[in-house]
Amino acid sequence: MKTETKKNFPIRLYIVGLLAVFCVILFAAVSLYQNVFLKDIYRRGKITGIERTADSLADVAESTTLDASFNAETIREKLDSDTFEADSCALMLNLDLGLGVEAGTSRRECVIRELTPFSVKVLHDEAEKDGGKTMLFANGEEKLDISNLHKEADKADTMQCVVLVKNTKDASGNEITILMSTILRPLGIVENALRSQLWIVFAIVLVMIFVLSYALNRIIARPIAGINEQAAHLAKGNYAEDFDEKNGYREVTELAKTLNRTAKELGKADKVRNELIANVSHDLRTPLTMIEGYAEIMRDIPGENTPENIQTIIDETKRLDSMVNGLLDLSKLQGGMIPMEIKEHNLTEFLRDVADHYQKMVEKDGFTVRLEAENDITALYDEKRIEQVLYNLLNNAVNYSDKEKEIILRQSRRDEKTVRVEVIDHGIGVREEDLPYIWDRYYRVDKEHKRSVRGSGLGLSIVRSVLENHAAQYGVSSTYGKGSDFWFELAVK
Ligand code: ADP
Repeated sequence: MKTETKKNFPIRLYIVGLLAVFCVILFAAVSLYQNVFLKDIYRRGKITGIERTADSLADVAESTTLDASFNAETIREKLDSDTFEADSCALMLNLDLGLGVEAGTSRRECVIRELTPFSVKVLHDEAEKDGGKTMLFANGEEKLDISNLHKEADKADTMQCVVLVKNTKDASGNEITILMSTILRPLGIVENALRSQLWIVFAIVLVMIFVLSYALNRIIARPIAGINEQAAHLAKGNYAEDFDEKNGYREVTELAKTLNRTAKELGKADKVRNELIANVSHDLRTPLTMIEGYAEIMRDIPGENTPENIQTIIDETKRLDSMVNGLLDLSKLQGGMIPMEIKEHNLTEFLRDVADHYQKMVEKDGFTVRLEAENDITALYDEKRIEQVLYNLLNNAVNYSDKEKEIILRQSRRDEKTVRVEVIDHGIGVREEDLPYIWDRYYRVDKEHKRSVRGSGLGLSIVRSVLENHAAQYGVSSTYGKGSDFWFELAVK
């Protein structure tokens, strides 16, 4: 089958590419701003600036009387505190009384300053014609020639002055004319200066992009490449790989942590698998050797063809069978392939049956199984699977018993909803440090795997799987040298 491989670029190329795109966009935006919008924005800014000031001066005029007693300082203060455009100045005139107040940041360029009363009157009338307010433009910045004013701004990039005329009335009804002027300067020189600066900025940005992409490459790409290299060893089965969890940014340290955890888990799984192969082959070989030995004796030695020897072969075959079944059961249980048939059953009766049956099996070895149960209790469980749990626990109780050969099977009511079942022995017990692990598959306290006792190391993991499938609580309390109490709880009907 032909597999199509998509070409992937290294992250540093993405970083450089992205930064380059960013740089181009930035450059385009700055050029556009400069060539298209700068002039407009400058003009609009200046004009709206004087318009705003004219409006606020009109507000002042309307709330006071502009006569000889008027304190001009209040207006100057107001203009100073306002965002008064540079190169602008303002005049507020009472035409009837011939009084005026002047303010501005640059008196030198105040083109409306030396207007004759006649010119003011002309401007006043011009504004009156336009509904009380008008905007006029003149070329140059010299003394204003009112015969040379026009209504449209000159589009050419030349020095121009703008005059705003606004008529209003003060609180006593006097005619007030507010004159504002400002200078629009040609932007050509500024633009040229900006353009050459733009190239310098562009060059600086380019250098910065190189530096940045180098730095980002070191910060982002390198640690990932390093981890990837180490992970390749992990893939080859080197689970001792130690990923650096301290250096690098958060995502990388988290990745390192995850990989360390993965390596640990893989290492554990690998160890378990090796132990499993060793244990299974050892366990399977023992009965096989017995069967082979007995069969050879029966074939070679006349008179050894006895029913006892045949029985041994049968017993060992059964043991093999149960071991293979145990393995199969466990993998099915853990894979969720055995559905639980949880139904109502008389638990007490069931425990009595199990105890009686087990008693018969082990009494020849001197064991007794005693059932401790008060009232009959109906509980919810899968009978076949719980029987398997009890047999595994009873087998362990027998296998790990010492001189004291009494095993107790106890049923006790916990609360309204649960009943506890316990298998208690007075055998060798489990050391505290081994307790958390005994439920693991193939964990055997007896590490040398001596066959002093029968068992495959699967019993408790089967117990655990069944009980977890019942969503049951379970556990053990054990004192080393004194005995163990394995328990689980079922739901009461
Ligand atoms: P095994 O086949 O080895 O019995 P299990 O999974 O049933 O496997 O048990 C795991 C380990 O737990 C045993 O090897 C044993 O060391 C310990 N164990 C289980 N039950 C008991 C018990 N009743 N008393 C003491 N140790 C026990």
